[in-house]
Formats: sequence, C-alpha cells, structure tokens
Amino acid sequence: MSRDVTRTCGSCTACCDGWLQIEVRGHKVRKGQPCPFSIAHRCSIYPERPQHPCREFVCGWLVASSPLPDWMRPDQSSMIMLAANFFWRGLPVDVVVPVGEQPKKKALDWLTRFCAENRRLLVYQIGDEWFAFGPPMFQTDIASRLARGETPWGD
Ligand code: SF4
Ligand code: SF4
Repeated sequence: MSRDVTRTCGSCTACCDGWLQIEVRGHKVRKGQPCPFSIAHRCSIYPERPQHPCREFVCGWLVASSPLPDWMRPDQSSMIMLAANFFWRGLPVDVVVPVGEQPKKKALDWLTRFCAENRRLLVYQIGDEWFAFGPPMFQTDIASRLARGETPWGD
C-alpha cells in the first residue's frame, strides 16, 4: 500500500529520544539518555546531522512505501518499526522497538493483523523482553537465539 502524501516527522522525535540504541558524534543514546542535539522536539543540527546513524535511519512509518496508517506515527503509537530488519528463511522480519515501556495495544493489534495477512514476521519488545509473532518454528528459533544471549536477529 502506498500513500499520496509525503509524510514528515512533525513533532515526533522518537528515534532521537533514546528508544533506539545509537551513537551520535560520540554521544551514546540510550533509554533515558536522548540525543543531546534533540532540543524541544527538533534536531538542533539538522542540516549537519551525521550520515550515520541519522541520515541512514529508515523509519518504517516515514518511508514513502509505508503501509502503516497515519495514526501510527511513532510518538503516537509508542513504537518505532524497523521494516524488514532481517530475514528468517527468506521471509522479512519487522522489528518493533517501543517508545516508552511498550507499544500501544491498538498499534500492536494492527501490526500483528497486518503481518498475518501479508506473511510477514514480527519481533517486538515490551520492557526489556522480546516477543516473536509468526509460526511456531519461527518463535522457537527466536527463543533459542535469546536463550543463547543473542539478539533476535542473531548478533
Ligand atoms: S521516529 Fe520516524 S517519524 Fe519519528 S522522528 Fe524518527 S523518523 Fe521521524
Ligand atoms: S543528531 Fe539530530 S537527527 Fe540525529 S539523533 Fe540527534 S537529534 Fe536526531
């Protein structure tokens, strides 16, 4: 599904606010530790923001081909989607990182329905715990990776 209107971030700064673990010009951005250049819901160095990670970041809501509805803007749905972040047996796996403690229920319900209808797989985080949505074998594989101390994508 594509959209006619190009989206803009508006007042969302979810990807700069510490929900993604990134490093910006030597500053570690973590939960409770937003990017120091994010000021009053704006990037204060936007024209000079670094290539990595800022310009390279692909937001699953902002990207032109996003299937996510308008109301799922990350700051409003409490989730950032990293679309097709990795593949499992040839199927794309979307990764959802919460903005806050957990994604809003309405957003997660929408996304799991979308993934089921489109044969996409999903891993999402609530608090510090990862959950897998997909067939039992996928869930078992992800649980094994987590039990080995790996990330869901196998790092
Ligand atoms: S999370 Fe997406 S919509 Fe929000 S500021 Fe980042 S790129 Fe923009
Ligand atoms: S430098 Fe700007 S775009 Fe990059 S994380 Fe910080 S506030 Fe966001």
